[in-house]
Parts: sequence; C-alpha cells; structure tokens
Amino acid sequence: MLVVMQAHASEDQIRGVCQKIESLGYRAHPIPGAERTAIGITGNQGEVEPGTLEEMPGVQEVIRVTKPYKLVSRDIKVDNTVIRFPGSTATIGGTALAIMAGPCAIENREQAFTVAERVARAGAQFFRGGAYKPRTSPYSFQGLGEEGLRIMAQIRDQFGLRIVTEAIDNESLELVEEYADIIQIGARNMQNFSLLRRAGRARKPVMVKRGMSATLEELLMAAEYVMSEGNYNVILCERGVRTFADHTRNTLDLSIVPAVQRLSHLPIVVDPSHGTGKRNKVTPLSRAAVAVGADGLMVEVHHEPDKALSDGVQSLYPEQFEELMAQVRQIAPVVGRAIPRLDQAIGPLSKAGTSARSLS
Ligand code: PEP
Ligand code: MN
Repeated sequence: MLVVMQAHASEDQIRGVCQKIESLGYRAHPIPGAERTAIGITGNQGEVEPGTLEEMPGVQEVIRVTKPYKLVSRDIKVDNTVIRFPGSTATIGGTALAIMAGPCAIENREQAFTVAERVARAGAQFFRGGAYKPRTSPYSFQGLGEEGLRIMAQIRDQFGLRIVTEAIDNESLELVEEYADIIQIGARNMQNFSLLRRAGRARKPVMVKRGMSATLEELLMAAEYVMSEGNYNVILCERGVRTFADHTRNTLDLSIVPAVQRLSHLPIVVDPSHGTGKRNKVTPLSRAAVAVGADGLMVEVHHEPDKALSDGVQSLYPEQFEELMAQVRQIAPVVGRAIPRLDQAIGPLSKAGTSARSLS
C-alpha cells in the first residue's frame, strides 16, 4: 500500500499519516519526490484497510501496490534517486557518471596508493578495493581485513576518493560501515537476508551486486530488503551472470540496465571486470554500459596485474584505464551524461609507487 500525499501537503500532515500507519502496527516510509511525498507501508501481511488513511488531511490517494517490491519501485518515486556524499561533489544516479575503480583486493599500502593515485588522476571519484574477500577456495588470499580498511581511509584523505568496499558478514559490516563511504554486498551474498537487513540499518549507502543466477526481480527484492529497514540509499550493480558461454567468466547482461530503470528509481552501475573476467573485454563493455545508460562503472585496475593476489587477469593496467576514461568521456554526452572534470587538486604525478613510499 502506498499513500500519495498532495503536492502542497505540509510536514505536519505527512507526519500525521506516518504516525497513523505506525499506530496500526505497520512501518511508514516517507519518500520525498520532486512533486510530492509518497509514504510506503510495509510490515503488513495482508491488505491494509485504506479507508482511514484516505480521509486524512493532505492525502491525495491510497494506492495498492501489486508488485512484490514496493520501496524500490517507480510507483513510490517517479524521479531517479541521486546518492550524495558529504564533503564531496560525487553523486550516483544524477547526470554525472559515477566511476569506481581500484584493485580487486587491497594487498598492501604501496599497491593501494599506487593504483589510487592513477585512477584519481584519470577521473574516478570512487576507489574500490576488497578488505574482506569472498573466495571460492579457503586457501586463497582472504583480504587484509581492518588493515585494508585503514589503508582505504587514508586513500580517501589523500586523494579525496570515496571508498567502496565489501562486507561479507555482519561482523565485517560493522567495520566497513565505520571506514567506508559505500557498503558493497557481493554477488554471493545477494540473498543473505540477514546481511541485507543489517545493511538496511547502516548509515552509509549500500551497493547490492546481482547474484550469479539472480533474476531482475530477485535483485530488486534484495534492494527491497535494505530499504525496508530504512536505508533508502541503495545502488544496484550488474556484474554478469552464469550462462553456458565459456569465452567469458560471466555473461554481462546489459539489458538489465534499461529494465531496472523502467521499474525502479534506484541507480544501477555496471561492473565489466567480473562481468567478463578478461582484461581485453573490459573497455569495450564499459563503452557499451555507458551507451546503454548505466549510472556508473566499477572497474578493476592494478599496476602489476601479473602479481595481483586476486583477479589479475581481468584487471586493467592504469594506462588502459586512462584510455577507457578517454573513450567513455566521448560516449557519455551522446546519452546525456557527463564525467566530472578531472580533479586538479592531486598535484604533480609521482613516479609509480613513490607517493606511497613518501607517505608511509
Ligand atoms: C568484487 O567486486 O570484488 C567481487 C567479489 O565481486 P562479485 O561479488 O560481483 O563477485
Ligand atoms: Mn575481483
């Protein structure tokens, strides 16, 4: 059920309707839009009786939402959700494309700083890197844990990049929430409902990656879990799904981008690195993702991919990432998007790795 308020409804009237909903034992989710506020109702097993709400001052209409997802739906919010970050001009979901880049995993301070400097200089506003890695083998590198988070926090201070990193369980989420700007929920955890609920109680935006065999509806329901707990800053990420194709690690399903945008107000970014698993396919698929209307890209970059502790074969060299940025800069305006101007504040280019050394 969804209560659509009148365009001129006052704050008091909105609060009154929310209190009424809560007094009936449900949860109220007021979602402001450009024109009017809509209030989503969750926590009801059956139908909510619309009568009393319809009569309240400031209420335009009460609509039954027939789709299984409610808060993620465009029914509740017509305009796109734009996610903002305190102290930064970076946004996700607005006209500017959100570019997230960095290594698969934070391996050490020097590696992370070297890559961060290069991606910042090329125009990325977000630095990605795993501190907690969900690995297929228990014997593979599992990430540096909190030390990795500390390194990323220093990268934010040094380069002004916002930090995106994965939480793999409730315990790591606690720490990721403290250090990072975006909490990533990985493909393997897309249906870890207790983790999604915990992320919904976090005070930072959450990026939910599509599960390896998840349908569009399942992806939207995962986002609904986060929003149902009161965290409305959710980003979706297409990272490829398992198919019979064996020329790529996964099949990047770019058609999900317009499909999501039709049904949901949430931003969707594309990860062509996990989506293809091959370095030579990352730039072509990044061009395609921007052309199809994605709200951003998440790309793995490593200065020494042959020595990377994870996902080296799909990581771009920094020069390749610079070329990728040059190409998507040209494509973005064709679809009415832009890539924010290069940040001039980084200073002169240090020799590879020297900035990390001089900082330590
Ligand atoms: C990642 O982004 O580092 C990652 C592990 O991705 P995914 O969850 O999509 O496999
Ligand atoms: Mn990876």
